[in-house]
Amino acid sequence: MRMPLIAGNWKMNGSLALVEEFGRAFADVSLPVNVEVSLMVPFPFLEAAGRALGETSVTVGAQTLSDRPSGAFTGEVSAAMLRECGARLVLVGHSERRTLFAEDDAAVLARVKAALAEQLTPVLCVGETLEEREAERTEAVVLGQIEAVFGALDEAERARLVVAYEPVWAIGTGRTASPEQAQAVHAAIRDCLARYGAGLAGGMRLLYGGSMKADNAAELLAQPDIDGGLVGGASLKVDDFLAICQSAG
Ligand code: PEP
Repeated sequence: MRMPLIAGNWKMNGSLALVEEFGRAFADVSLPVNVEVSLMVPFPFLEAAGRALGETSVTVGAQTLSDRPSGAFTGEVSAAMLRECGARLVLVGHSERRTLFAEDDAAVLARVKAALAEQLTPVLCVGETLEEREAERTEAVVLGQIEAVFGALDEAERARLVVAYEPVWAIGTGRTASPEQAQAVHAAIRDCLARYGAGLAGGMRLLYGGSMKADNAAELLAQPDIDGGLVGGASLKVDDFLAICQSAG
């Protein structure tokens, strides 16, 4: 049985006041016990988020990390630092990192390995652009991104990942993949992972991301191969994010 995960990605948004607001709101509600919730906040808010959410079951995560353990890399943040500041999960390969910061598959793999080395859970993001979908290259692109990472890890490492399928054309656009479109890609990812073992494929949590909102989450999460959501814009509004968490239970 795969425990659903709802992860909020604040991107470069939010404030310490918003962190406090989330802490108060989550302390006052009971989340479904069978749902894991995590909030991926900007680096400077990690410790405050850990404190604010400390009395809740919500974990804190980061949005990227360096591929190096330490050294003269001005501006970078290592996996060990994230861990020390309370992060338990970290996004890797988000499409904004791939396109705006030129992180290719090799860079994504290096970051996954850096996260694993410090016991962080990498949430590996994959997804196709609109152009790639229209050229009927969705599976080739998405499964290529999956293979580039899973093919380079050993069995124990693979089992520690979470995968987020995020069609690039649906991120921040208000244009959500239909439940059928999302389910088809999730099923293809699970089939692909079965090459590494039925146990891995059956246990791997596959999140959907791309304009998931309070009013479309339930039908996406009802799909058999969708095990949670990676939520951007709607994770900045406490009521919307809570409603999505509740609909995963
Ligand atoms: C994201 O940033 O991962 C994302 C899915 O954003 P949004 O929900 O705003 O589309």
